[in-house]
Amino acid sequence: MHILILGGTTEARALAGLLHGRFRVTSSLAGRVASPRLPAGEVRIGGFGGVDGLVDWMAGHAVDAVIDATHPFADRISFNAARAAATAHVPLLALRRPGWVPVTGDDWRPVASLEEAARTLDGLGDRVFLTTGRMGLAAFADCPQWFLVRSVDAPDTAGPARTELLLDRGPFTLEGEREVLARHRIDVVVTKDSGGAATAPKLRAAREAGLPVVVVRRPPVPAGVTTAASPEEAAAWAAARPGASRAR
Ligand code: NAP
Repeated sequence: MHILILGGTTEARALAGLLHGRFRVTSSLAGRVASPRLPAGEVRIGGFGGVDGLVDWMAGHAVDAVIDATHPFADRISFNAARAAATAHVPLLALRRPGWVPVTGDDWRPVASLEEAARTLDGLGDRVFLTTGRMGLAAFADCPQWFLVRSVDAPDTAGPARTELLLDRGPFTLEGEREVLARHRIDVVVTKDSGGAATAPKLRAAREAGLPVVVVRRPPVPAGVTTAASPEEAAAWAAARPGASRAR
C-alpha cells in the first residue's frame, strides 16, 4: 500500500515515522523552506500543478491513500487534495492538530483573516510581534506600527515599513518567548491559531505579560473530509484501509 502524506508540519513528520516500514510512504513538501527537516521514507518537493497535477501524480505513483497533514492554514492544497481524491477515488484523511483554546487571563482578539488582524492592531500599541509567517506579510504593509517579524526564512515580499526580522524556527520555549517580548518591549502579539505545542509558549508569555493576542481563526477543512487529531489516529486510519495487511 502506497500512502501519500501532504506534509510541511511536525505532525506530518511524526506520521511518516509511524508509517514508514509498514507501508510505502511518500511525503510531499511544498518547497517553501530552504532546508526543511526531512521525514522518514520517500520525499518529493514542489507543487503538483493544481488538482489535475495531483490526480496525475497519484495515478502515476499508484497511491492507495492520501493523508493531508499540511498546516491548518494551508487551505489551497487541502482543497486540491479533497478535489483530487474525489476525482481519483482515493481515500483521503485530513490530519489537523486541535486549535488553541484561551484560558483565564488571556486577552485574545479573534479575527477571520490577516487583513482583519492588521486592522485590529489599531489602538493595541506600537510594537507588534508578528508570528504569522513570511507569506502573508503584505497584509500588514500599510500598518504604521513597528513589527518584529519572526519567520523561518527571510520574507521575499514587502511588509510593513518599520520592521525588524527575527529568523528562527520552533519549537520555542517559554523562557525564550518571555525574553523576546521583554527585549523588544512588545505591546501586542499576532498569531494564527496553528495549534500544537511547538509555538504555544508565546501565548503563555503574552498572558503573563498582560498583552493582547490577535488570533487568526482557521479556515475550515473541506466539506466531507474525515479528520484525525493526531499522528497516531491518522496511522490507525491507514492501518484500517483495505489492503493494509498486504502492506510491506
Ligand atoms: P497553500 O496556500 O495551501 O498551497 C499553495 C500551493 O502550494 C498548492 O496549490 C500546491 O501547489 C503547493 N503546496 C502546498 N503544500 C504542498 C505540499 N505539502 N506538497 C506539494 N505542494 C504543496 O500552502 P501554503 O499555506 O503556502 O503552505 C505551504 C506548505 O507550508 C504546506 O506544506 C504547509 O503544510 C506548510 N506550512 C504552512 C503554514 C501556513 O501558515 N500556511 C505554516 C507552516 C507550514 P500546486 O497547486 O502546484 O500543487
